[in-house]
Amino acid sequence: MRFEISKVLDAIEGRVTTDPSLARAVVDLAEVIRWQDLDGGRPASLLRLGMVIDALARELGEDSVPVYAIVHRALLSDADLTSNERMVVRRWADDGLVEVLDQPGDRVLEVADLLGLPVLSRVRFDGLQGRYPWLGQAGRVLAPVPGAGGPVFIAHVGGGQSPAAGGRSPVGVKLLARQWRCPEPGCALFGSGGGGGAFADLARVDRAPAGQPPPSLRNGVPTCPRHGARLGDAGPRPRTEVLAVRIGGLVRRRFVLTETQPVLVGRAPDPADGIVLGQWLNDEARRWISRSHVRFELRVGEVIVTDTSTNGSGVRPGGSMAEADRLALAPQQSRVLAEGDIVELYPGVQVGRADELPSDAKFSPTSVMAEAPTMAMRLPRP
Ligand SMILES: [Zn+2]
Repeated sequence: MRFEISKVLDAIEGRVTTDPSLARAVVDLAEVIRWQDLDGGRPASLLRLGMVIDALARELGEDSVPVYAIVHRALLSDADLTSNERMVVRRWADDGLVEVLDQPGDRVLEVADLLGLPVLSRVRFDGLQGRYPWLGQAGRVLAPVPGAGGPVFIAHVGGGQSPAAGGRSPVGVKLLARQWRCPEPGCALFGSGGGGGAFADLARVDRAPAGQPPPSLRNGVPTCPRHGARLGDAGPRPRTEVLAVRIGGLVRRRFVLTETQPVLVGRAPDPADGIVLGQWLNDEARRWISRSHVRFELRVGEVIVTDTSTNGSGVRPGGSMAEADRLALAPQQSRVLAEGDIVELYPGVQVGRADELPSDAKFSPTSVMAEAPTMAMRLPRP
């Protein structure tokens, strides 16, 4: 049983991120783990984060949906969590997957404001609408509550039941145009990566500068939310493009393309720099699609796709699903992706810009909780 819980926690680990391009909602972990009514279990449980992530995926109709978690430092020694759970949260903190703060204050709202993300919380945030006007918008603050098949969202402040993203705030756009350096050695949020600061060798994470979290703004000064230190400007942030993989009409995952790192997509490329599709493919698609089938590169803002397969690919110009429009992409051939273009590795296995590739199939979820033992999943009667 302990082994199974570890596997669930590993699955949840793949769904926490501080990458501004990938996070889809913001949560306060200290709040989520104490929603005892979600499963009627222990006073605190990290598995509840998995339940909330699953609920978010159901609502967005997408798989592999990550959340941005703010973690109060006290959680690392919270006796209501198991020692295993505390260890896991500590690992997430060390790897910069979550933000650990001494005084979270309204950092949840600040991140949601800068990135334009919905907040999943039962807090009403009274009196903060002046500072964060979007708190009154539908879908920006949703409270996960017990439902028949796991948590469901109810409007808490602004109405609506589906999470809604706004745009990044003007300040967020400015902050995310630069990369930042924390003077604190080994800072997991604004440490090494890119230029490699004086303490780069001490950093536990070689974090890609394109994936740096948004700084905290204190009295107008970009500040490390973890260390409270003024951040140094380390130059322009590398350009990125967010791509999505859609299989059988369902978006299975998103990934970030940067100018420094091409990404291989196929049946089984090296996961270090590739997107592995094998788990979602049927036998015929598996036979057709090569281990590394296509390579994506970002060059001066343009997405370039190169076929690296045995059997070739196709491009659907402007997203047209008419067979007559489909262009063949022969092995070794390259093409600049125009607006709306969708690359098709095999019929129904598609890659395109995330904002141009919505899910359009009935959601068949791959739960992060799939490995959860029934004991931890004892759902209360709704
Ligand atoms: Zn720092």
